[in-house]
Amino acid sequence: MSNKKNKGQVIIISGPSGSGKTTLHKKLLTCKHKLLVKTISATTRPKRQGEKHGRDYFFLSEKMFLYKKRRGHFLETQKVFDNYYGTPKKNVQDLLKNGKTVLLCIDVKGAKVVCHKIPEARTIFIKTPSLEVLRKRLEKRGSEGSETLKLRLAIARKELKESRNYQHVIVNDNLKNAYEELERIVFLDYDCKSD
Ligand code: ADP
Ligand code: 5GP
Repeated sequence: MSNKKNKGQVIIISGPSGSGKTTLHKKLLTCKHKLLVKTISATTRPKRQGEKHGRDYFFLSEKMFLYKKRRGHFLETQKVFDNYYGTPKKNVQDLLKNGKTVLLCIDVKGAKVVCHKIPEARTIFIKTPSLEVLRKRLEKRGSEGSETLKLRLAIARKELKESRNYQHVIVNDNLKNAYEELERIVFLDYDCKSD
């Protein structure tokens, strides 16, 4: 999948669950720049309070997800925390064809697959100042039971080791500073504001 001709580009955002990826990318999308689009992944995980099918994720049954996977619907899929997640391939292809800057908020394993398929992809890793801060934010978000929370923290330790493979690492301590850094990376370094 080449995106050289039309200047569409992929920006991957990864980081442990609770590091602030959703908060930061949603803020980025409110600037409504016409070139910036986030793909909507499919997942088999249950919907959280306030989440909407087709806006936050496509919430699919496992049967439907695996059917779509077999039909080649996804650019990549991963099992994360016992649920499947997948990036819709056609959506990314269409957006790149239209010269968009495509944000993918995906886990570190999915990011490796995408970087292999789209070597020009830009990569940003978001982390908290410490695991303790991460735990507190996950607790405060209140989206996980204690077992899931433990699992997410255990996986976070592994994911953090992968941050060295990313082009940019943002420490999301103060939200405003983290956001400004993200904005600088997305808009200035890659000049997607230029039309
Ligand atoms: P992710 O999408 O990476 O799982 P979220 O964006 O859901 O993470 O953030 C996890 C929780 O931390 C949310 O409740 C969010 O409001 C909060 N949060 C995000 N960034 C900060 C920050 N800089 N300071 C304090 N709380 C934050
Ligand atoms: P959450 O359940 O908290 O929304 O997401 C859990 C993890 O799955 C996060 O690390 C998130 O980035 C990742 N994720 C979300 N969508 C995808 C996807 O399409 N592919 C992959 N590989 N990971 C995803």
